Parts: sequence; C-alpha cells; structure tokens
Amino acid sequence: MQTKMLINGEMTEGTGAALPVLDPATGAEVARIAEAGAEQVEAAARAAHEAFETYRLTTPGERAAHLLAIADVIEANVEELAELETLDVGKPWPMARDEEMPLVIDTFRFMAGAARTMGGSATAEYVAGHTSMIRRDPIGPVASIAPWNYPLMMASWKIAAPLAAGCTMVLKPSEITPLATLRLAELLADVLPKGVFNVIHGRGPSVGDQLINDARMEGISITGSPATGKAAMRAASEKIRHVHLELGGKAPVIVLDDADVGALAETIRFGAFFNAGQDCAQPCRIMVQAGIYDEVLKAVSDQVGQIRIGGPRAEGTEMGPIVSAEQRDRVAGFVERARDGAEVAVGGGTGEGDGFFYQPTVVANVDNDAEIARSEVFGPVVTLSRIKDADEALRIANAGDYGLASSVWTRDLSSAMTLSARLRYGMTWVNTHGVPTPEMPWAAMKGSGTGCDMSVYALDAYTAVRHVMVAY
Ligand code: NAD
Repeated sequence: MQTKMLINGEMTEGTGAALPVLDPATGAEVARIAEAGAEQVEAAARAAHEAFETYRLTTPGERAAHLLAIADVIEANVEELAELETLDVGKPWPMARDEEMPLVIDTFRFMAGAARTMGGSATAEYVAGHTSMIRRDPIGPVASIAPWNYPLMMASWKIAAPLAAGCTMVLKPSEITPLATLRLAELLADVLPKGVFNVIHGRGPSVGDQLINDARMEGISITGSPATGKAAMRAASEKIRHVHLELGGKAPVIVLDDADVGALAETIRFGAFFNAGQDCAQPCRIMVQAGIYDEVLKAVSDQVGQIRIGGPRAEGTEMGPIVSAEQRDRVAGFVERARDGAEVAVGGGTGEGDGFFYQPTVVANVDNDAEIARSEVFGPVVTLSRIKDADEALRIANAGDYGLASSVWTRDLSSAMTLSARLRYGMTWVNTHGVPTPEMPWAAMKGSGTGCDMSVYALDAYTAVRHVMVAY
C-alpha cells in the first residue's frame, strides 16, 4: 500500500505520528501512515510557492494537456483506485468504480477544456487614447483540504480547477481516508512538473492548520464541515486571502400534492442512501404536503426497507458501513434524541459485527423545528415532515442554516418555477435530486459556503480579475 506523501516531486514518508487507517466494514486496521512533520508541511508550501513562478506562465493549452494526462492516468488505474476507496470508506463494490470514478475522470477532462475558455470580457477604449484589457490570472499557491466521504472525487474537484487556472497547490486529504489520494499522488509524481501538485497527510487541527496558516498560500479551499470552514476563514482573515468553502448541507425535498410519488421514493432510495447517506447533497429533509403525506411515507418506507446493507464486497450490497465508529455514534445519537417527538418508521439501529454499520432509517412525523429536521446528520437517515402548502415549505426551507442542495417535486410548472426561483440554495433540482455533471456548478449559499466546485464558475475561486490599461 502506498503510504508516502508527494512533496516537490519526491515521494516522502511522513516524519510525524503514525495514524491508523481502519476498514469501516470490519473495524480492522489496514494501514498505519505517518503524518507530515512541521518541516514537511513547510517544504510542501515552499515547493508550491516556487513552482508557481513558472506554472503561472504556462499556456492554457499546456495546462489542458496536464489535466488530460491526469485523467488518462486515473482511467488506466481506475480499478485499483476504486478498490482503495472501497477499503477506506466502505463503499459497495462495484458502485465505487462504476458510479463515482467516471465523474472523477470527467472532472479533469472538463477542466482541461475549461482552462482554454478563460479570458477577459472587455477590450475597449473607455478613456480616449487608452485601451483597457481584462485579464484573469491565477491567484497563487492554494492550500486545499478534502473530506472523507468521497475522498477521490472531492480531491478531483480540489485539484482540477486550481491547476486549470494556473495555480499550484498543496492538498491534504482527510486523515481517516488518505489511501486513494496518496496513491494518486504517486501516479502523478512524474506527470506534473515538480512542486505544482503536493500532497501531505495528517490531522486537521495540526497539519491542516499549519497549511492553511502558511503565509505563502494565497488561497484556501476547503470541503468539509462548518467548523473547518470557520477555521479557514479565520486563517484567511489574518492575511487577507481568498477562501473557497464547500461545507455541509441539509437538503429540503419539497413534495407537493401532485408529485410523482413512485419516482420520488426511488430517488430517495438511491440518492439518500448511496454512500451510506454521507453526502452533502443528500435528499434528507422530506417535506410533504398533507394530502399525500401517508402515501409518501408508505412508498419511501417500502423502498428504504428493501435496501440491502452489508460488507462492501458482498454480492448485492447496496449500502455499506459508515466511515468511522465516531460518525456512526453521532448518527445514532440524532435518531435516539428524535424518538421522543417522532416515529422511527424504518431502521433506527446499528448493524451487527465489528464494522461501523447503521440501518437505513426513516424518521416520520418530525416537527419542522426538531433538531433532526434542521441539523446535518450525514448518515443513512431521512426525515418526513408535513407542510401545509408550497409557501410554508419555502419559508421553512429558506430559514435553514444551510444552502447547498434542494429539490421540488410537482407536476405543476408554475409551482416548480416559483419554488426553484425563490429557494435560497446553490442547487435546486425539479423532479429529481443530486444529479451532478461537470458542466454545472456544485454551488453553495448561506452556511454551506462560498463559491462552487465544477463548471467554469469554479475557476472564479482561483483567479483574480485584473485591469491592464495602455495609453497611446
Ligand atoms: P471535517 O471538516 O471534519 O474535515 C474535512 C477536512 O478538514 C479533513 O481533511 C480534516 O483533516 C480537515 N480539518 C479539520 N479541521 C481543520 C483545521 N482546523 N484546519 C485545517 N483543516 C482541518 O469534515 P469531514 O467530517 O471530513 O467531512 C464531512 C463534512 O464535509 C460534512 O459537513 C459535509 O457536508 C461536508 N462536505 C461538503 C461537500 C460540499 O461540496 N459542500 C462535499 C462533501 C462533504
């Protein structure tokens, strides 16, 4: 197993404490990987800083070639990388390969094209005898921090956009799921120029904190929890730096009386329990108009009750374990505290064995103000609440702290357009939920963050708009 970090083009063993990596399906230790020592974080930041001076001068075509090469390397090693994700996160096989890896690869191919679209919007004489030009230039070296739920996919969003924009970077994957990212680092060691892409391993409050506070980092890009987002904002405020945050979510699913209940229930089965519900866009807060509440509860409960939970390699497994014992206990805590004021219609218990399993769970009759209706559970749990009408749903949804994903379920065009225009969420799907495509932004509002990943808009976080004026 590859346990080294990539610093300035060299594969390097960490000099810090050895951290265990566990298989969530069994609880067994699969590796012990030394985290970066302070001098190694420093070396990675220095490498990105020095490499920026040449990488920022590359042409869009050269950067596109690098991104296409990365996509090819991942494609050639897709089986191995997906296997590492299965081992590290407990993702069911072959879903880890067939559902996630195509988007990882396509992210790099899309950004290869996007790199060549960057340009200024105006060249004109706004002052007589002076020509103005707009330039979009890379901001500088970026400190990138990734979470554990989709380690390689989140890493691909964190890598592709800054490299397309002309930034160099230091990436830190989550300390509990570093395996696929460390292997990718090794695969890319000879693909990218020295120092352009660095990967370090370690815990957030020590290694991550040192990285985001390094004075050479001009941008901080985080996908993670709101607490980590706040740490990034504090670090950025000290030096006045760019911050790009993709934080948590609590997606409202607004179901009106005329919705297609069958399609909704199938979408919930797949979308809310894929990756054991550890998904920032998870369709988890189902708000149903009173007239079809009972029908929706039955349809969703029937679908969720059929989900096959098991070891990632077991035949027919739809849902694997939760990533860690700590996260499993956190999920269980939300459900236990909800029992007082609501009804657990499906699931609500931990699985058997030493793995970190939790049953697919539906909590019904949830008050719209309840903790489980408002907080991000980040596990295989959905809630059902009643709403009177679309206006009430809109008010409740917009009052939520988060602003990432949302969906509206109705056959009425007017309701669909009104709700999708007024929801204060970075993404709204109508009659589906959570379908990603690299051309479209994964966008955050309110407590879910700033800016977006994917799409040409992701380049905004890594570029500065500049004005050049020539007098003649
Ligand atoms: P987390 O914030 O605990 O950890 C994320 C990363 O931040 C890890 O690499 C961790 O080591 C690092 N980190 C923690 N504290 C840090 C600090 N003080 N300084 C620097 N780095 C630090 O989040 P998690 O538990 O790994 O991931 C789950 C969270 O991520 C959820 O809230 C989820 O919604 C969110 N998420 C959001 C998106 C999105 O696109 N909006 C996507 C995936 C996950």
